[in-house]
Amino acid sequence: MSPTFKNATRESPNINGTRHPVSIEMIRFDPEWQFEDQASGVFYKNGIIPNKLFITYLGGVINPECANKALENLENMFGYGLLHNCEYIRIADYNEVISAPFTTRILYANTLNRLNSKYNCRPSITYICGASILLKTMLRLFSSYVKQQFIFVPSVQDALHIINTPQTIAIAEKDQQITISQKEIDRFASLCGELLFNETVTFEENNYSVSPENPLHDLYTIITLLNDDLKELRKTEKEQKFKIEESLDQSRMLNSRLAVEKKNVEEKELIQQILIDNLNQAKIDAEIAIKAKSEFLANISHEIITPLHAVIGMTELLCCTPLNDEQKSYADTIQISTQLLHQLLNNILDFSIHESGKLDTEKSLFNIQKLFDDVLSLLIDEALKKGLQLTFAIVPSVPEVLSGYPAYLLKAILNLVQNAIKFTNKGEIVVSVETVSESPDEISLRISVKDSGIGIPDGKKELIFQKFTQLDSSATRKQGGTGLGLTIAKQLIEFMGGKLDVISRENEGSEFWFTASFIKPKDNNISNSDRTSLPCQERHHSQQPLDKTLTPINKILLVEDNIINQRVTTAMLNKLDFEVEIAANGVEAIDALKEKVYSLVIMDLQMPIMGGIEATQEIRSKKSGVLNPDITIVAMTANSTMEDKKNCKDAGMNDFISKPVMMPTLQELLNKWVTALP
Ligand code: ADP
Repeated sequence: MSPTFKNATRESPNINGTRHPVSIEMIRFDPEWQFEDQASGVFYKNGIIPNKLFITYLGGVINPECANKALENLENMFGYGLLHNCEYIRIADYNEVISAPFTTRILYANTLNRLNSKYNCRPSITYICGASILLKTMLRLFSSYVKQQFIFVPSVQDALHIINTPQTIAIAEKDQQITISQKEIDRFASLCGELLFNETVTFEENNYSVSPENPLHDLYTIITLLNDDLKELRKTEKEQKFKIEESLDQSRMLNSRLAVEKKNVEEKELIQQILIDNLNQAKIDAEIAIKAKSEFLANISHEIITPLHAVIGMTELLCCTPLNDEQKSYADTIQISTQLLHQLLNNILDFSIHESGKLDTEKSLFNIQKLFDDVLSLLIDEALKKGLQLTFAIVPSVPEVLSGYPAYLLKAILNLVQNAIKFTNKGEIVVSVETVSESPDEISLRISVKDSGIGIPDGKKELIFQKFTQLDSSATRKQGGTGLGLTIAKQLIEFMGGKLDVISRENEGSEFWFTASFIKPKDNNISNSDRTSLPCQERHHSQQPLDKTLTPINKILLVEDNIINQRVTTAMLNKLDFEVEIAANGVEAIDALKEKVYSLVIMDLQMPIMGGIEATQEIRSKKSGVLNPDITIVAMTANSTMEDKKNCKDAGMNDFISKPVMMPTLQELLNKWVTALP
């Protein structure tokens, strides 16, 4: 459907149906329609007489950027619908335009075309005011493209004059007759061809200039313009091509650099992997080495301990013989030194057991109050010797029986209390136990050993937990020590899932504390023996009374394979007025028990042919043929772990003593088990 336009022809520039001269005053210039760029001096001023006239004053060096912004205002103006379904007269005043490139003109022409078609309107005639010769020829080029007829006038006033006096338009529009020769046409055609096909040639070089009187002058000018634009386009095309080539080169270079980097990274990753593998291997090697070292330490300590027991025992016996003062002083020194050596070996053994990962992971029930009783009975003498008070404070809410690692807990607390005694000269040592948290199944306890001793200087607290570290070796020289006590306590506490820490002030005292979690056994799992048993030493007084007819007088069967131990223990027992018979293993012991009646059996555990556990089971089985299957059997061994003690008890042994056996221990043992005899 072809558009219909209201009658607004050049012959009737009347407003509202009546013929009025058109004047500037009748034109509406809304602010939103105006564009002015202060920086560049470019302006587009737009005005309208609705459905009749559209005027634009343009100025400046109009680059495409400004034109783009100016077109927004044009779009705004058309949006008012004041030019709609109509033909209108257009006036464009170019008097102030300095220059406008080809792209700007195309942009402007395209937008105007689009808006005209959108609002179904078009300019019936366009008055171009003050256009340069270049612009005029350019507009001629555009005239069919924008479907407009152009009339070139010097000023807006001239345009209004023509509009208001329709008869003058004929003069303005009048076609000028021109005559042109074939030669001129041929010359023009050849110029067009050359400019079109020869990229290097320029218009000036070919000297095609013609005088303004030449009828083809305008066409030459147009060709010049088009040629300039074409050159410009080719130049930018070349530049862009060059830039693209450059970017391609750069990206190729980056690609190859990236490939090198990738290779480097891959190589680094490979090296890293080799390092990690090496480290892992080194870790495995180190672990094997630590294990081997710990096993070596354990073995060597064990080997040293056996003769040491003999030295300790013999020294003790020696001290009981009549000695002069000088001899007594030598014997005392030997005794103190061997005890220190023994303590050291025990520590190394404990430490190596942990380092070689041989800690027993099976939990057992224990009575916490009894555990502290043991600490007290083992260390009270040491504390009293120094005039120190040793106090235990367990809050009543702590359950009596717990499940955990009593042997390790005992060892850790013993080490801490021993240190507290060692490094305290006056005052007291308080061991306390508090509940930190509790659930139906578990309880977490805070166990602390607080002393009023020499304390630890600030900054040295980290040091003391390192193995073989002592802050003041003179104190240790006085008191003994290996620098392993805290390391062992820490290892054991960490094994139990706790953490050992210290709060201390120099010259005021220290508090070593840790938390550890224990399982609360269900009530029906706790036997009475658990309630009363000591983790360290089982004391059963329910021994069957011996058959009087079988009761020998003070004769003891010592079952021990080591000749030195045989000698030491025999000497001690003799000293205590006991007769001793020796069996070198379990089989010999059973044989002896079949023949004779003894008041007590002291049984080593590890022996060739038949060990102590097996022998005890055999004796208790009542099938062995021994005279008294219920005879009191006391284990005597250097292995004093909880498990050993439990095994002894399970096998039916009555008591347990640790090597090296000391005279007082032996005396106590005999008092306990043999005084029942008549
Ligand atoms: P040691 O066998 O020498 O006691 P430990 O590992 O048990 O070795 O202790 C290391 C060092 O930590 C001690 O030599 C001592 O300097 C310091 N230390 C440990 N306990 C205490 C304490 N209760 N008061 C002051 N210093 C302590």
